[in-house]
Amino acid sequence: SDFSSLPLTEATQKALKDMGYNKMTKIQAQSIPPLLAGKDLIGAAQTGSGKTLAFLVPIIELLRKARFQTRNGTGAMILAPTRELAMQIYGVCKELLGDSSKLTYGLIMGGANRKTEAERLRKGVNIIIATPGRLLDHLKNSPGFVIRNLLVFCMDEADRILEIGFEDDLRAIVKMLPKERQTMLFSATQTKQVEDLARLSINPKTAVYT
Ligand code: AMP
Repeated sequence: SDFSSLPLTEATQKALKDMGYNKMTKIQAQSIPPLLAGKDLIGAAQTGSGKTLAFLVPIIELLRKARFQTRNGTGAMILAPTRELAMQIYGVCKELLGDSSKLTYGLIMGGANRKTEAERLRKGVNIIIATPGRLLDHLKNSPGFVIRNLLVFCMDEADRILEIGFEDDLRAIVKMLPKERQTMLFSATQTKQVEDLARLSINPKTAVYT
């Protein structure tokens, strides 16, 4: 089915059209409707499947619906295993939001200037795209980083995040987040480690599995 059949804002429909996307990929068709409805999701998705839009489109729509503004702080956190993937997600987010969106978004990752990041977080970044180590650092050490309004916690390539050795950081992050939230977990493989992470972070009562 087509993106145009979804109940999305005009701005998102236009951005998708401008990017040249009409028909949804399988993971998008399976994920976007339940995510828009507020459900948790475990998405089995390889790279190249279109998983980035499968979580970014609902995240943007959910934050718009909640009328998120800079002063509300962070509404969504997207975790990626590597800086390279985080930057890729950031690029797609930038294209989807265009220039006129009120939503703010930013990269939080190892290797970048942590003081500059902390300053931006203090002002309010609605959508954070991060690697786990640096995000945990800010959660612990950056005063004024407001996460009490967090609506969405999303993990991309969760199996790789765990393989790289971020399991302890990931567990520490999950423990610090508001309990009332929506969680999205995308993974190419469903390993024991991924199952443990799902048990820790996903609400089994509302979760959808692709
Ligand atoms: P991803 O799996 O999110 O890294 O996406 C892989 C590639 O598929 C990217 O180059 C996207 O531009 C492209 N893509 C994502 N969704 C669609 C779609 N609905 N139709 C055509 N191409 C898409």
